Amino acid sequence: MDIQHNLQHIKSQLPEHVTLVAVSKTKPVSDILEAYNSGQRIFGENKIQEMAEKYEELPKDIEWHMIGHVQRNKVKYMAHFVSLIHGVDNLKLLQEIDKQAQKHNRIIKCLLQIKIAEEDSKFGMSTEEAVNLLQDGSISNLKHIAIVGVMGMATFTDDEAQIKKEFSNLKTTFEQLNTFHPMEIISMGMSGDYPLAIECGSTMVRVGSSIFGERNYL
Ligand SMILES: *Cc1c(COP(=O)(O)O)cnc(C)c1O
Repeated sequence: MDIQHNLQHIKSQLPEHVTLVAVSKTKPVSDILEAYNSGQRIFGENKIQEMAEKYEELPKDIEWHMIGHVQRNKVKYMAHFVSLIHGVDNLKLLQEIDKQAQKHNRIIKCLLQIKIAEEDSKFGMSTEEAVNLLQDGSISNLKHIAIVGVMGMATFTDDEAQIKKEFSNLKTTFEQLNTFHPMEIISMGMSGDYPLAIECGSTMVRVGSSIFGERNYL
C-alpha cells in the first residue's frame, strides 16, 4: 500500500470545505507516521485504549478523533487529548465527557450520532431525541462539552439509492438542529461511499481502507 499516494489521490477529490479523517484503527504507528509525513494531521480510531497508546507514541500536533462507540468508563483515558468524539448518543455519556474534560480544564467537541441506517445494530439517536437533548435544558449546565455537529453511518449495502436517502436524512437532521443550535460538522462517508456522502452535504469524511489498505482483524 502506497499510503502517501492514496492520501494524495483522495485529497485531490475533496472539496475545500470537506475535512478528511484518516481512519487508522488496527494500523501500526509506522503507517500513521507515513501519512503524517505526507501532511495528514487528523486521525480516527475506534478503540480508546488503542488511540491513547498511539497518542503517546506519535507527534503531539496530531488531532485524534474517536469515531467508535464510547464506553462511559473509558472516557477518562482520552479526556486529556481527544479533539473530537463522533459517536455520542446519550446524555449520560455527555455528562461523563463533561466531567472528565473539566478535570483537564478543556472543552471537548462532540458530534451527536444519529441513527440513519435501516439495520438496527447501529448506535445512534433519532432526530427527535437529538432535538429534545438540545432543547430540554439537560445539557445547559455542561460547560466542558461543545456539540458541534452530527455523525451517521449508512446501511452496509450496494444500494446507492438507499445510502443516498440515509445521508440526505442526516443532512436534514443537521439543518433542523442547526436552526436552534448552530453547528458546523456533518460527519458522514467512508471509503466505499464518501463521494456520495459529499454530494449529500458531508463536511467530514472518515476514510480508512482506501488510505491504509484492508484491515486484518484477528
Ligand atoms: C472503520 C470506520 C471507518 C472507515 O472505514 P473504511 O471503510 O475503512 O473507510 C469510518 N467510520 C467508522 C465509524 C469506522 O468504524
